[in-house]
Amino acid sequence: MQEHRHIYINGQWVEPSGTDTVQVINPCSEEPIATVAMGNEMDVDRAVRAARQAFPAWASTPVSERAAIISKIARAMQARQNELGDTISREMGMPSAWSRMIQAGLPIAVLDSFVPILTNYEFEYSMNGTRIVKEPIGVCGFIAPWNYPMHQIIGKVAPALAAGCTMVVKPSQLAPLNSYILAEIIDEIGLPPGVFNLVVGAGSKVGHALASHRDVDMVSLTGSTRSGTLIAQAAAETIKRITLELGGKSPNIILEDADITTAVLKGVYNSFLNSGQTCIALSRMIVPREKQKEIVDLAKATVESLKMGDAFEDGVYLGPMVDDNQRQSVREYIRSGIREGATLVTGGPEQPENMKKGYFVKPTVFADVRPDMTIAREEIFGPVLSIMPYDTEEEAIHIANDTVYGLSGSVWSGDVERARRVARQIRSGQVFINGADFDIHAPAGGYKQSGIGRERSKYGLEEYLEIKALIGYNR
Ligand code: NAD
Repeated sequence: MQEHRHIYINGQWVEPSGTDTVQVINPCSEEPIATVAMGNEMDVDRAVRAARQAFPAWASTPVSERAAIISKIARAMQARQNELGDTISREMGMPSAWSRMIQAGLPIAVLDSFVPILTNYEFEYSMNGTRIVKEPIGVCGFIAPWNYPMHQIIGKVAPALAAGCTMVVKPSQLAPLNSYILAEIIDEIGLPPGVFNLVVGAGSKVGHALASHRDVDMVSLTGSTRSGTLIAQAAAETIKRITLELGGKSPNIILEDADITTAVLKGVYNSFLNSGQTCIALSRMIVPREKQKEIVDLAKATVESLKMGDAFEDGVYLGPMVDDNQRQSVREYIRSGIREGATLVTGGPEQPENMKKGYFVKPTVFADVRPDMTIAREEIFGPVLSIMPYDTEEEAIHIANDTVYGLSGSVWSGDVERARRVARQIRSGQVFINGADFDIHAPAGGYKQSGIGRERSKYGLEEYLEIKALIGYNR
């Protein structure tokens, strides 16, 4: 059983002010694996003070120095990639092979992607005799979720370091263990004290304190839309900049001229990755009515071929839900689908027969899902796919856009021009055309209630910059 008694403030491991602790549970076994000391509002205060003190010097470091630091973090993380991936598997249940590649691999790639972005970025230029200067916004508060915990933390830390900001990071209390690895790496490579601080704790305490703190200039959350609303309200009092990466209910439009087999296979793998606990999961498959039967048969066979099990068993694709609350919530959504008249193709709300322990949910597919059903409208965040039939292309686009979310989407067509035309009409921050791979260099973020702002790419960097106009610069 691991124990973490400290938080990381001003370049030192220190004891939190209070005595609260939290147990981290392995969702595959339901056994506790670690005890973690939680910080509180006083610790946020200490951490923000350290970040404020460190800000002027860090903000004025040369770009080359900041780029070198980001590279060093990436290399140190690479040296611990398997350990990082396995730690995340233990605390949130994603199968280890996938976790090493995605949970640990993506943040390394994101760090590396910011080196050329930073090196080539034009921080200053002249516009009609006025000098435009881009400056770091200041002290940032970062609030992260548990589903891709390190990827979401690095999505904020990398551009903030690049911009010259200092920061306080609050990981999810469900999956905090990975964040100690990052803090250890940062400690070892010798980032100036106070630039990066880590305060583990509850959202209602540490998260709220960061969002409402007078001396925090910007707060960035990745989490649910509900937390986004609370954080935006807390941040409003001090007019902080906010970026919010929130929930999704992303559509996967399969047009009748698409390669149906590939589209369904990829769509299923996508929506069941991380057992559906993925913000950009394509959880609504929008299909031509006359092909629904063929698509349902293919989806059923594919889903039933996915192996479920412990994160460290070979060949496992489906892990558990992160905790019992999440399992109960997903099961309730499955019951609502049945109650509201969707056709249950495979799965259901019961505990899977061969999984006596662990927060597992049967991978579930519904067909004949109508846009007014709860399972078509709300983010389930579990292994549940809704297949929704349409009669015309126009109706498919209407269904795709008919939720409060706008995070991701996908279009499949045998005619790429047609796919592009439909993709342009989807109101979301990203749209994948004909099964394109995840692109670490593309900006990501939400339309509508999926969020505010962008992460990754130069747009991700710009979230951390203020724009100053030095007027009459050459007088
Ligand atoms: P969550 O909203 O429950 O928690 C996210 C973080 O917010 C946690 O650290 C939590 O402690 C903190 N928090 C909760 N209430 C708070 C408050 N009142 N003030 C300040 N902080 C508070 O989300 P989760 O369950 O950890 O993650 C799942 C959600 O995250 C899903 O909705 C998913 O779609 C979303 N998500 C979005 C993206 C994206 O890029 N858009 C990526 C991953 C996850």
